[in-house]
Amino acid sequence: MFYGDGEEVKWSFEELGVLSRKAANVLSGACSLQCGDRVLLLLPRIPEWWLLNVACMRTGTVLIPGTQQLTAKDILYRLQKSKAKGIITDDSVASTVESVEADCQSLKFKLLVSESQREGWLSFKDLLKNAPSDHQCATTKSEHPMAIYFTSGTTGAPKMTEHSHCSYGIGLTVSGRYWLNLTSSDIYWNTSDTGWAKAAWSIFSAWSQGACVFVHKMPQFSPPAVFESLSRYPITVFCSAPTAYRMLVQHRCTFNSLRHCASAGEPINPEVMAEWKAWTGLDIHEAYGQTETVLVCGNFKGMEIKAGSMGKPSPGYDVKIIDENGNILPPGKEGEIAIKVKPTRPLFLFTCYTDDPEKTKATVRGDFYATGDRGLMDEDGYFWFVGRADDVINSAGYRIGPFEVESALIEHPAVVESAVVSSPDPTRGEVVKAFVVLTPSYISHDPEKMMKELQDHVKKATAPYKYPRKMEFVRELPKTISGKIRRNELRQKEWRRY
Ligand code: ATP
Ligand code: MG
Repeated sequence: MFYGDGEEVKWSFEELGVLSRKAANVLSGACSLQCGDRVLLLLPRIPEWWLLNVACMRTGTVLIPGTQQLTAKDILYRLQKSKAKGIITDDSVASTVESVEADCQSLKFKLLVSESQREGWLSFKDLLKNAPSDHQCATTKSEHPMAIYFTSGTTGAPKMTEHSHCSYGIGLTVSGRYWLNLTSSDIYWNTSDTGWAKAAWSIFSAWSQGACVFVHKMPQFSPPAVFESLSRYPITVFCSAPTAYRMLVQHRCTFNSLRHCASAGEPINPEVMAEWKAWTGLDIHEAYGQTETVLVCGNFKGMEIKAGSMGKPSPGYDVKIIDENGNILPPGKEGEIAIKVKPTRPLFLFTCYTDDPEKTKATVRGDFYATGDRGLMDEDGYFWFVGRADDVINSAGYRIGPFEVESALIEHPAVVESAVVSSPDPTRGEVVKAFVVLTPSYISHDPEKMMKELQDHVKKATAPYKYPRKMEFVRELPKTISGKIRRNELRQKEWRRY
């Protein structure tokens, strides 16, 4: 663990065992949590987050992680929706919690992870120091709830996604071995914010393989801070989001121990993969998954990588492309990416959207769990992402996935990143519109000429009918807290203007 200000902490597995038993005693003692109670955990990337994850499993507490960047409204939404019995956080969020707690009837305790004391809060550090180090684990069953993750909220209000004790326990073990290629000699750094389901990879995937987890207390993703850690510590396996790789390839530096890189959460542009390889000599192993699932597809160890493809189905999942009636489509045909759940639902899939049976039911189509993402499978069994079902553009009868157009745009040196959405058009129904962030050296160029140049570039780089007929240059793109592009926000604005 690196705090970013020079301070470091190292824990062995044995120390983690002792400390997590003590932490479990804090939860079931001073916090009075019973097996099955829910608790919201909002902590930065500090070791206590990992400790409390293990302590919750020991006590059968259902953990609900959230990011530190949540506003008062977001925290209120999560506390009310989840009926959490307690909240665990640090000084930076404490006053925000206090501003909404009067509206949260189910909240029974507040636990502060801090060196200092605060009125109305239990002190985790004090309680931990005095807690006994022996603890009897709760006798949870594999199907009992272990955690509730809120989705990223890319398309609407975040959904509470419930996973059982066996779901991530088994599913992420598989990806730890085959996707991240972790062993007991590795040091693994996953830059995910602790508020997202992806952070669970730095518990289950790493520790099931005996790998060491590296943690950097980075308040926000910052390329110089990432470079410092990658060159200062013997990190061997690195996992980050496409947004982060897009930022990293803009600044170059050298790494000593890195041997395996992975990306998930959004599609990664082939151009970024090529630049990364030219610079580091390493491939980026892309994978695709959802909060509701574990890895659905991935570029696993030893597989030939086809740039732009999400790879092949994860072991244990039967993944198909289906039509609107749940029929399986042949290779090359675009449809919805789906996982077979009948007659047997995989052990590692979400149990339900908490307290929302209707929404849960709506995800099942025929024998499948339908992801809501469009894609296709090629003759070799590789899966290709087209777009979220709502993001696909239908222009004069042509179906266009935004990602392909964005990937063509980013190949041009003027483009840092872009978001492609549908925009209304009187004759074609809808046309492709690109919102483009330019690199600093191109910002002062004549916008008309720049647009023409980028349109010509896209016509050459991909099938010409996909080129953006409309273009707007922007300073930044709307994103979720986790850094995902919110195309639906841009799309709604376009259609509202109409
Ligand atoms: P919400 O469901 O609240 O709108 P979200 O779907 O973004 O938010 P997550 O569960 O964090 O929440 O993200 C899963 C989604 O991210 C997938 O359904 C897919 O659209 C996208 N995604 C993840 N990995 C990839 C990838 N490698 N390529 C393309 N898309 C990806
Ligand atoms: Mg989703």
